[in-house]
Amino acid sequence: MKRRNLLGGLSAAALAGACAPKSEAPGAQASNQTFRWKMVTTWPPNFPGLGVGAANLAKLIEQMSAGRLQISVYAGGELVPPFETFDAVSRGTAEMGHGAAYYWKGKAEATQFFTAVPFGFNAQEIYAWMYYGGGLKLYQELYANFNLVPFAAGSTGVQMGGWFNKRIDTVQDLKGLKMRIPGLGGEILQRAGGTPVTLPGSEIFTALQTGSIDAAEWVGPYNDIAFGLHQAAKYYYYPGWHETGPALECLVNAQAWASLPADLQAIVSTACQAVSTDMLAEFAARNATSLQQILNSDVEVLPFPDTVLRRLKAITGEVLTELVARDPASAKIWASQSEFMRVSDQWQQISEAAVLRARHL
Ligand code: CA
Repeated sequence: MKRRNLLGGLSAAALAGACAPKSEAPGAQASNQTFRWKMVTTWPPNFPGLGVGAANLAKLIEQMSAGRLQISVYAGGELVPPFETFDAVSRGTAEMGHGAAYYWKGKAEATQFFTAVPFGFNAQEIYAWMYYGGGLKLYQELYANFNLVPFAAGSTGVQMGGWFNKRIDTVQDLKGLKMRIPGLGGEILQRAGGTPVTLPGSEIFTALQTGSIDAAEWVGPYNDIAFGLHQAAKYYYYPGWHETGPALECLVNAQAWASLPADLQAIVSTACQAVSTDMLAEFAARNATSLQQILNSDVEVLPFPDTVLRRLKAITGEVLTELVARDPASAKIWASQSEFMRVSDQWQQISEAAVLRARHL
């Protein structure tokens, strides 16, 4: 029995080495100890896609570990407010968290690179960078400063540009635009003359409907319909230039992580990858069917004009240049990401982009 446990631990460790991040602390020795953890999240209760993805992650870990790691999941506000997830896991109030790294830019500006950079990676590319381009190592290095071990855990795929009650025909139309848009996208809108607003998802519908904001981005057709946003705005713009393939994250408290035997560590990191694949597939399927519903409504689905996208892209360049000049962590991560993107873009152009084009010849 003892020998079997030891072997099990070794093979799990090998698996962890192959496809999972290396943490600073080696896993404790395999045992039959049962761990009971809490997971706090930034998502509204039972929220489709994102909140359900976090719940699936907990369930999967429990199943894969045969109940040795049990995780109770709390929606935003149930145990701690949504935007306190990072602090709660850092100090150990909860052992695990699920959210998006760019919510923590107030802690470290460089966190934003692990969710999305405007005009940046698609979902395929961000995982390519994380797992085969050194991204995950940089991610874990940054979060070690906060007593946290992060994992990529979920992706919505490319998002939509958002819901607008004003048409956007020229760059002038961005001036004075009051829009719910977080992260770097918000900063870019501000420089284009707009007013970015940060609101949790649950407050977007009312803000749009009452006119206290002119526009709002959330995710894409599937999640946006869940909030009824198609009943609160006239125009639905694409593409989601600000979130081209955002990765979500699972946070683990560093001491809690170190207390896990190596096989449970491998289960956690592998479950995060499984949830990423599953969530991307779910969004791809459900966004497509939800879009049909929107196209059959009174909403106008419109592309941003190229002039508007060019302006936003130029401002993105300025914002990133300033960010890397003032923040060494951002400089290091952006150096890695931008070099990976330069090379990846050439491949994407002659593979994915070319195939999509060819499909419509
Ligand atoms: Ca979004």
